[in-house]
Amino acid sequence: MLVAEIAVVIRDYPQPDPKMRRFLRLLPALLLSAPLGAQSAKPSIAPPKPPAAIKAIRESDIKRDLYALASDDMRGREAGTIDEMRASMWLAEEMRKIGLAPKGDMGSWFQWWNMRRSRISTTSSSVKLAGRPLTLWTDITPATNAAVDVLAPTIFVSNISDTTVDVRGKIAVASLVAPSPAAIRSTTNTHEYNYTRPAITAMGNALTRRGAAGVIIVADSIAEIAFDGVAKIQSRGTYDVIGGVPRFTRNPNPAGAAGANPNAGAARTPVPVLLAHRAALADLRTDGQPVDIRLRTETFEYPSVNIIGEIRGTDPKLRDEYVLFSSHQDHDGVRYTVNGDSIWNGADDNASTSVALLAIARAWKKQPSKRSALFVFHGAEERGLLGSRYHVAHPVVPLEKIVAVLNGDMLGRNHPDTAALMGSQPPHRNSTALVQMAIDANRATSKFVIDSLWDRPTHPEGWYFRSDHVPYAERSVPSLFFSSNLHPDYHTPRDEPKTIDYPKLTRMTQWMYMTGWLAGNVAQRPGIDPGFVLR
Ligand SMILES: [Zn+2]
Repeated sequence: MLVAEIAVVIRDYPQPDPKMRRFLRLLPALLLSAPLGAQSAKPSIAPPKPPAAIKAIRESDIKRDLYALASDDMRGREAGTIDEMRASMWLAEEMRKIGLAPKGDMGSWFQWWNMRRSRISTTSSSVKLAGRPLTLWTDITPATNAAVDVLAPTIFVSNISDTTVDVRGKIAVASLVAPSPAAIRSTTNTHEYNYTRPAITAMGNALTRRGAAGVIIVADSIAEIAFDGVAKIQSRGTYDVIGGVPRFTRNPNPAGAAGANPNAGAARTPVPVLLAHRAALADLRTDGQPVDIRLRTETFEYPSVNIIGEIRGTDPKLRDEYVLFSSHQDHDGVRYTVNGDSIWNGADDNASTSVALLAIARAWKKQPSKRSALFVFHGAEERGLLGSRYHVAHPVVPLEKIVAVLNGDMLGRNHPDTAALMGSQPPHRNSTALVQMAIDANRATSKFVIDSLWDRPTHPEGWYFRSDHVPYAERSVPSLFFSSNLHPDYHTPRDEPKTIDYPKLTRMTQWMYMTGWLAGNVAQRPGIDPGFVLR
């Protein structure tokens, strides 16, 4: 699951209490049946019967595989590293053992493509304060990713709200001001990081708007703890995919920080914003010291990979159509240390769906559907849906032959009785027929209370837009996204195999399987709703 890039107001989503649970039980009836009601006046009475092969989906297999794929040995499976490659080889080998056919390049399991990465060059950039060089990422950390040269004197801003201080053409130095509580995320990274990052953005924007040539923010006691994390994450730079479709361009969350970035839009010279240590305050307070900032960027390409296997359908007429099961194998790798742990295992995100796909493949191999099944593990999802954006531009089967994309991301956490189905309500729903199959499949297998809040366009997380189904859905492939949603361990080293609810993950797997089974056998393939435009 991709971390949202837009600034959004994040709130805590606690476990539902018993009263809330009762309410949530009513939600599907209240919310889901309403939009569906127009299409199908009443729900079918008896749920469809799962095939015998559903028994091949076993919790013990899922648990064993998850402990392997999310183990410390896999080192967090960071995209473009040997660690993602190791996990990719492991998945391909598991598919081979199950008996799938490879569907990647030249008869292999792998579809190779390149990531393009841009970052501040550590070797060719420099920052000097009064002639004294500061070490990048250790003494001072650039908080933006832009190449820029600035030579200007410092001015200390003791009170950032005092707008009478003229910072124009100067390097504004200010102590970090705590961000508004609403701007502090409660998931991903540490609290200290989540406190520091929005403070830097808000202060950088405010001082840049007042005409500062550069901004140095001096850490407070909380930001001081986050300094290493900010440096580690910022020094990574930005990522794109060569030859993939563009990122979804419509702003999925107009309530976010649209227009807040002073460097966006008009061709203004970027203004460097840097974070300094708390202990540097004494050095930085004196006005008029020359600061010489020369930031250079470097761009390079390196490989990531999609892993693709197939189980052929049994019906000669339908077997050239495909149900596509989707996951991503990458996570965040080895990053900064939290409580003594630097491996960001990504057990829920997204080893959970990856091992679910293996379990589905075992059942499918025992009893294939009429249509064929494609199992796609997308690389570099965490770096911006790169693998799915590549596969949609270079699909191994024609996109119009894919009758359904069933994507999962984070299937093993939160309340055992609830789960979310993104793409089930307008404006995200692109196939009412496929949604009905998922609802019928849920009735037939897992009987989750479907929490419809996360699929709403008003949801502050913009959850729908943050996984690999989006490039497919945007191109009118019927698509759903199964998830058990965010939790406080999301994108931290705490997302470990021991935190997964294995019975729940097994039921999520059965739900995805049964939805695919219905789509794989139905006479009339699920259609796209008339006039669907993703927004
Ligand atoms: Zn993620």
